[in-house]
Amino acid sequence: MESSSSPSGARSSSHGGPPGYSPNPSPIPYREQPLAYEPSEDCPCHKKAARWISWSNGNPGRRYLTCQRSRVGGCRWWRWIDDPTTPFLRQLLVDLRDAVNNLRRENTQLRGVNADLEMGIEDRSTQNNALRDALRKMKEQNQALEEKLGQTEGPLNVKNNGHQKRMLFSVVLIVMIVCLVSKLAA
Ligand SMILES: [Zn+2]
Repeated sequence: MESSSSPSGARSSSHGGPPGYSPNPSPIPYREQPLAYEPSEDCPCHKKAARWISWSNGNPGRRYLTCQRSRVGGCRWWRWIDDPTTPFLRQLLVDLRDAVNNLRRENTQLRGVNADLEMGIEDRSTQNNALRDALRKMKEQNQALEEKLGQTEGPLNVKNNGHQKRMLFSVVLIVMIVCLVSKLAA
């Protein structure tokens, strides 16, 4: 059994942490569930061992078997299934792992930004509706005032016309009187 390096890169010999635990989550979903393999292999607890994929820097993409209850009080047994890969493929897998996990993080951040923007749009939309309502009310008030003004202007115009007619009549009357007086005097 080769156990010189941990499958996860995060296994601590001091507390015997679960080999499956890794600060680097799997960048891809498992094609097969950890217990869906044959032939079955048991750990010292006489339970079928779980098959995981390591995503550590040292052994990315390398499968290993470990106690299926290793995280919850099972045994510490584990072993590699695959042989170590080439340094080139190891680095390639680590780079791909990091690229996927970075994109995931960015995606999560962008979703947060997007949610904030959507809330902002909703707020603006509410404000916009309130402004539209206020504008509509002002237009209605304006129209009502214009109608009132129209009603007031009518009588004023009629009054003005009457006044002008009376003035004209008086002037004509005065002129006629003056003419009559001057004729009589002549
Ligand atoms: Zn076990």
